[in-house]
Amino acid sequence: MSKGFGESDFAQVQSERANTQTIRQVLERDREQAAHARDRHAKGAYGICEDCGRQIGDERLAALPDATRCVACQAAWENGNR
Ligand SMILES: [Zn+2]
Repeated sequence: MSKGFGESDFAQVQSERANTQTIRQVLERDREQAAHARDRHAKGAYGICEDCGRQIGDERLAALPDATRCVACQAAWENGNR
């Protein structure tokens, strides 16, 4: 008797679904982050780390205009949000 999808096909479909979801989540987070950065800009806090209050640094802002944390705080935040 045929079971249709084999075990490995099923796993493949599951993992592709997970990838699509991860990509959506990343895109959604980028969009939220961009909106958040604009909000910080509107409040005159652009370029100031929202966690420690120090200057984020021109080089980092040039590379990542949406950054709202300095390198150290961003690394700490990403470790806690994985
Ligand atoms: Zn910081």
